Amino acid sequence: MTTTLEEKEKCEASDGHRPPLQQFETLALHAGTTADPVTGAMLTPIYQTTTYRQEAVGKDKGFKYSRSGNPTVSALERRLAALEGAGFASCYSTGLAATTALFLALLRSGDRVVCSQAVYGGTVRLLRQTLAHFGVEAEFVDTADSGAFANALRRPTRLVFIESPANPTLKLTDLVFAAGLAKQAGTLLAVDNTLLTPALQRPFEFGADIVLHSTTKFIEGHNATVGGALITREAELHEKFLFTRNTIGAIQSPFAAWLTLQGVKTLPLRMTRHCENAWRVARFLEKHPRVTELAYPGLESFPQFELAQRQQSAGGALIAFEVEGGVNAGVRLMNSVRLCALAENLGAAETIITHPVSMTHGALPPEQRAAAGITDGLVRLSVGLENPDDIIADLEQALDASAEGRLS
Ligand code: PLP
Repeated sequence: MTTTLEEKEKCEASDGHRPPLQQFETLALHAGTTADPVTGAMLTPIYQTTTYRQEAVGKDKGFKYSRSGNPTVSALERRLAALEGAGFASCYSTGLAATTALFLALLRSGDRVVCSQAVYGGTVRLLRQTLAHFGVEAEFVDTADSGAFANALRRPTRLVFIESPANPTLKLTDLVFAAGLAKQAGTLLAVDNTLLTPALQRPFEFGADIVLHSTTKFIEGHNATVGGALITREAELHEKFLFTRNTIGAIQSPFAAWLTLQGVKTLPLRMTRHCENAWRVARFLEKHPRVTELAYPGLESFPQFELAQRQQSAGGALIAFEVEGGVNAGVRLMNSVRLCALAENLGAAETIITHPVSMTHGALPPEQRAAAGITDGLVRLSVGLENPDDIIADLEQALDASAEGRLS
């Protein structure tokens, strides 16, 4: 006997004994997948196949070719859509592939995008160095500044793209305000929710139209894959994304989707622990005499603490800080860590320390970096799941080493 995916899905839908799946932790484990009715296999298989045999011309089982769709990828898409509280998700080979698909699906030559000034460097590079050649205009504004933000939307705008908290400064944009402005201007609001994930912030509840993720980060969470997702409540937008994904060939691989399906199961637990650890580390850094600047949305000293409380359920895992002695001391600190990994990534189980100016945000022109507050000495810390005492001990010895360097 063979069981088609269609039959599996019908079986899922008709399972009257299944309790309603509503709580986030439960959705993270179960949404969008079911045990295989034939074998009982608990995990959705890795459908490592290029194509799908068709019964007759025009009669397929929902999949035709793995560039346009794949059952393992679909399982991840159902789960991510459920976690963000939306109906539709599409998954991509990387986070930037998702951003590319978003822009290509919605923008035409002559269109204008309003984008947060502090965003992931690759987003800026895509707009400034690739899409500009195709006549797309991007204006980078401080979306935390309501006046400047509103002003930017006075000119016709096709898309508003924000990141909150912003990578790497952690500056927040008021999501309700952004959604109101976008609506008033008759444009769409896309929110890059990579830094918090739906475990800590759900942009659709504040009025966003599209949520973007680099699943490379907390969603998969184990430094094992690269991937991205576009999530929406609008069927029409979703269709545009699927069309573009197929056109440019940017779908996620079944193996990466499968690993992400396993990683996302522990997302709620991991995010809770990430935040607890980050709060402890942030408190340590805040009190350290050599730390001159510190941003962590979970601390009362954070300038937008009240906004953070309104739109995020916790402070997150990222901390941005600067040390006495400027760039040289910051670089010495990053070169002195032993437990924390000096690397480009964030959101993994392991603590990662990054120098945004030479790594993730090197593509930003110096004037945009300066305007966005991305100083040469800025250190970005993605606090992992190690025992926080060990992370703090490592930072303490690295802070000492950076000071010793200054004196010698
Ligand atoms: N969005 C944010 C906030 C990021 O930090 C990144 C990467 O660092 C991306 C998007 C791009 O994702 P990827 O590296 O998976 O292409």
